[in-house]
Amino acid sequence: MSALEHRIGMEITSKSHSTVVQARPVFEERLSIVSPEGLPGKEFLRDVEKILVSGRLTNGAFVREFEAAAAAYLGVPHCVAVSSCSVGLALTLRALGLHGEVILPSFTFHATAHCALWNSLEPVFADCDPSTFCILPGAVRAQISAKTAAILAVHVFGHPAPVSELDEIAAQYNLRVIYDAAHAFGSKIHETHVGSSGAAEVFSFSPTKLVVAGEGGLITTRDGVLAERLRAARNYGDTGNYDPELPGLNGRMSEFHAALALRGLDSLEARIARRNQIRIRYEERLGRIPGLRFQKTSAHHRSTCKDFCVLVDEAEFGCSRDQLFRSLMGANIEVKRYFWPPVHRQKIYREIWDKRPLPITDCVSERILNLPIYSSLQDSDVEKICDAILELHEHSISSRRLRPQNRT
Ligand SMILES: *Cc1c(COP(=O)(O)O)cnc(C)c1O
Repeated sequence: MSALEHRIGMEITSKSHSTVVQARPVFEERLSIVSPEGLPGKEFLRDVEKILVSGRLTNGAFVREFEAAAAAYLGVPHCVAVSSCSVGLALTLRALGLHGEVILPSFTFHATAHCALWNSLEPVFADCDPSTFCILPGAVRAQISAKTAAILAVHVFGHPAPVSELDEIAAQYNLRVIYDAAHAFGSKIHETHVGSSGAAEVFSFSPTKLVVAGEGGLITTRDGVLAERLRAARNYGDTGNYDPELPGLNGRMSEFHAALALRGLDSLEARIARRNQIRIRYEERLGRIPGLRFQKTSAHHRSTCKDFCVLVDEAEFGCSRDQLFRSLMGANIEVKRYFWPPVHRQKIYREIWDKRPLPITDCVSERILNLPIYSSLQDSDVEKICDAILELHEHSISSRRLRPQNRT
């Protein structure tokens, strides 16, 4: 190693066109990108005992208590607990009786789109906002056709989707709006929690989300009739008279999962605050590095910061997103590139997607890198991650100066 290589802890291997930088591990053991949060201690065993003694493992008191607690927290009248967000979305589209096309983002997790296919609805992708990464209202308008039945928006990484603009579009064209709120349990628009918009919103409680039930989901709605249909839908469509209203599924949440989710609510506010603190520290430090930008957060929104990401501009930062990815992984810092590839470029969807291109989605997706964020992440870990990124930037820029033929 040269003196420079030694100082920054990186070894340089020159290849014909690019410089690959291999970082020395910054952490002894790989620092994970996520860690399940809000899990209870031994007090959970009391819940388990209660459930076992009651003999009621499903359709019981814990589910009802969790639904009531969620309704109070979110400020929404009807909450229907389900076995997952995916199932909740599929049941919601079914219960709404939609036919035709659904406009949705491609910059999302593919489960968002799968629920359309499960209902024989045609997914029509709309481009995203370059600063919030949520669906762009103008792009939604551009995709409306005579067959459009609904808009399925996503609160990306906890940043609220543009609900008032989508409401306006929906009213004008008589469409339903459904939200994939998997990331957004605790997000706010002004002082109001996400969960009361559109026809329904669907949250996730799988282990990478804000509230963890093991597996689980929650459908929230202001529509009491829809809520009753959804209660039937999660129970094979049966309302109790053994003559189903609709072809439902078993989409129920078990008592054990509900007990876990209920415990997770206790620490939620503190965890969201901590995540935002981490986000702010990342932005302070990484914001000084040329070529990195972040998901915008505006003053009247609160994000859960379910994820924290940077967008890498290769020309300014000095190396590509993928080089940064490899370098941080080499340094034992787990990072991810999502959502990449975007849904319209994944196998199932690229075969059916023959419509207009999604340039912003492609651009964001090719540049995005997600960094570790969870409430137990230490301040010192955040500093080390930022140091590693800064070192790679400085190194890439200085090695570029040494190779004038590669200047652009
Ligand atoms: C996790 C996730 C889902 C799926 O949630 P499950 O509860 O695992 O079914 C759906 N949409 C988005 C955006 C997600 O991140």
